[in-house]
Amino acid sequence: MAEYLVGEKVPPWDLEAKVLANVYRRTAEARARGTGLELEIIARWRQESRRDILRTWTERLEDPSAGVLTIGAIRPVLSEWTSRGHGTITYCLTQVLSGHGCFGRYLWKVARRKPTAECTHCGAVEDTAAHTLSECAAWTEQRARLVAVVGADLSLPAAVRAMACDASAWRAMSTFSQEVISRKEEAERAREVDPLAAQMRRRRAGRRRLAHDRRIPP
Ligand SMILES: [Zn+2]
Repeated sequence: MAEYLVGEKVPPWDLEAKVLANVYRRTAEARARGTGLELEIIARWRQESRRDILRTWTERLEDPSAGVLTIGAIRPVLSEWTSRGHGTITYCLTQVLSGHGCFGRYLWKVARRKPTAECTHCGAVEDTAAHTLSECAAWTEQRARLVAVVGADLSLPAAVRAMACDASAWRAMSTFSQEVISRKEEAERAREVDPLAAQMRRRRAGRRRLAHDRRIPP
């Protein structure tokens, strides 16, 4: 597929992990219902999941700057990070560390699902992972619990250093990410069913199609 030719040949590991997790979850749900499972069905689920992650991957490649910040934060503690005996990367933690996910800026600039980068929780002009982690007024309680373990400096390099060196800091970051990202995703789903938001998305899609058509020579 064309996406495989852009920059990297293999999708990032967290996206591959998401495919496995999706297939596992659907298989477990089917078993719980007592539904018989054929190999073709599982193969189809895998294909569907892969299509989803290719879309996410393409979006990420359009905005690599956030990934650069993550690498910059991990590089000084790379040895501690890779040799640590604790902590796994979760779906929500990846979003907070990479900035790719349910944040106003990402949804506006990369996923093109919002008209502005605004934070819908506190009204700040730009909602980013850094804003969510260290500023947004909506997450004061969750942040207080995080600061109690990690310390007051919630910049990405400081948070990553704490996570690499301390299992309890890793757990605290993971818990914060889980609680906050699931609330943000819930709010985003509610926003997306709002008819005005849907109308705005259709207009943007129309404009993108127009721009695309103009690039095709007559
Ligand atoms: Zn906010």
